[in-house]
Amino acid sequence: MKYIQKCKEPSSFTEWKNRRTNKTTLWTKIKQAVKSNLHETLLHEQGYICCYCGASLKGNESHIEHFKPKSLYTTLTFEYMNLMISCQGEDEEKPRVPVHCGHKKNNWYEEDLLVSPLISNCADFFKYPASGEILPTDDLDKNLAAKETIEKLALNISKLQDMRRLAIDAALLATDGLTEAEIQLLAQGYEQLDANGQYTPFCAAISYFFKNYF
Ligand SMILES: [Zn+2]
Repeated sequence: MKYIQKCKEPSSFTEWKNRRTNKTTLWTKIKQAVKSNLHETLLHEQGYICCYCGASLKGNESHIEHFKPKSLYTTLTFEYMNLMISCQGEDEEKPRVPVHCGHKKNNWYEEDLLVSPLISNCADFFKYPASGEILPTDDLDKNLAAKETIEKLALNISKLQDMRRLAIDAALLATDGLTEAEIQLLAQGYEQLDANGQYTPFCAAISYFFKNYF
């Protein structure tokens, strides 16, 4: 999980919220153009990776995710701090149903058990071995929330394990022939946005791997 630093909401969204009829909290009432602009702003804010699994969202379908479900927290339906972008999390097999991330989480929310990408140390809740698995940290303060988050969002399913393993393997391959100092520099690069404002997909797993196994 990669920390998301929230920016300012788009002015089109603010203006629409101020103008909306009867201060509706119905998500379906949002104007398509306002929603599209909001979606793009959130994607940019996250560096084009899923808020939960870290998969690439560039060119892939995604949705605006309500961290605290809008069915339970209606007053937060249009609260920018509650919005992020999740991948669709669909199975590869047909019929394609959501098997991980936002749609899998659905209406689940427990404040002490769902790790938020908006807390700066969210990456510290998880371990990423070379196998591609995601595991809860051994840190007792964080272990239970990490475990529940992995389970409820199905972050350790084989599809995601395979994708993370490939990402780690590719990052390892890129170290071939580099000095130790160059490898450290490369590792630091995964923590940052690239020139196009994007993170490397699964950068949290790659960063963890470099920090712990190099
Ligand atoms: Zn995802």
